Amino acid sequence: MKAGIRTFQAGVRTEHRNHKGFRNGLRELYKTDSIKEDTMARLRLMRAPLKYVQGKDSLLHFCEQLQDLGSKWLFICSHSGYKNCHDKIEKSFEGTDNVRHYEVFSGISSIGEIEKMRKIVREEGIDTVVGVGGGSAIDTAKATAYYEKIHDVSCPTVCATDAPCTGLSVIYNDDHSFNSYLFYPKNPDAVIVDSAVIANAPTRFLIAGIGDALGTYFEGRACVRTDAPSLENGGITRSAMALCELCYKTLRDYSAAAIRACENHVVTPALDAIIEANTYLSGVGADNAGLAAAHSFYNGYTGLENHPAQHGLCVAFGTLVQLQLEGAPREEFDEVQNFCRETGLPVTLAELGVTTDEQVRKIAELACVEGESIHNMVADVTAEQLYDAILAADALGKELQ
Ligand SMILES: [Zn+2]
Repeated sequence: MKAGIRTFQAGVRTEHRNHKGFRNGLRELYKTDSIKEDTMARLRLMRAPLKYVQGKDSLLHFCEQLQDLGSKWLFICSHSGYKNCHDKIEKSFEGTDNVRHYEVFSGISSIGEIEKMRKIVREEGIDTVVGVGGGSAIDTAKATAYYEKIHDVSCPTVCATDAPCTGLSVIYNDDHSFNSYLFYPKNPDAVIVDSAVIANAPTRFLIAGIGDALGTYFEGRACVRTDAPSLENGGITRSAMALCELCYKTLRDYSAAAIRACENHVVTPALDAIIEANTYLSGVGADNAGLAAAHSFYNGYTGLENHPAQHGLCVAFGTLVQLQLEGAPREEFDEVQNFCRETGLPVTLAELGVTTDEQVRKIAELACVEGESIHNMVADVTAEQLYDAILAADALGKELQ
């Protein structure tokens, strides 16, 4: 049980998730030069969490749903994760002799925190580590489980990104500076989302998650057009694209109603639809279909000295930029732009706090560095072209205001 189904030990790669980097990693791993850029056969590949559980008060069923993963549990909790989930999880264990260790966490997935958690796992013989909270708690749990070769579970308490379902973590140094992406040979063993917890979290997180999910279909479609490999470096399956399409459709059909539900802290079918889109469809879709310009826009944006907007908000505007780059039909652009406006996602640079020409140039340059997913686009993209597309998307956004 402990070793799981690992067939390939992923190493730490410090470059952005790019395919050249991935192949270099393989060459290093297998100590061979025979893995060639152009001759490597690409197999169609699909990865996902082994189990996905979602619904109102799903945490009351935590033990029942996940008992096959072991009997000694370490819960790595953010402060709010502990507050909102502890009692429900405990209730689910009533009448069992399972060991539960709750560790409230400093807030960042740093090397030091991971070391601390690994020590607890070893000392207490933990079977499964559960990340309860936002991206950092989940990333710390994933890394701890990977290094200690035990099971991991994601229990997101906000829906701001698609991190819970993916097979990678962002790792920071103890001084909070970026350290690396850590790629795993598999996705989490399980993801459990309590819709009531999400309904009680601030709505801005849900909106950011919708923004992150908005890119999924368009970025996947761009990768299919160029036969680019997925984030998992595999050929893109029809299944993956079906998830991406369903993701976009679900956002269009249910976002407005889901936002209202969240504002009123109630769980409705619309809210559940969006929780699934933000968490599962977007996460599994992006993992297996790939990223393109929208996420590169975000990465470029984080290079600015001041970058106050959340990840998902940038990805939403980045999607509009990508549509400009692609020369998408006006009808399609308008549809996405209107969606952003109705949802409270940015349609102009000013809404992201970008106000000078110099900032736009910097974003464009950083978004086009080697290894960025923007190079999955047809005919590749230069910083100059991206700069033009950013300003074009912004101008069309200003027209609406
Ligand atoms: Zn994202």
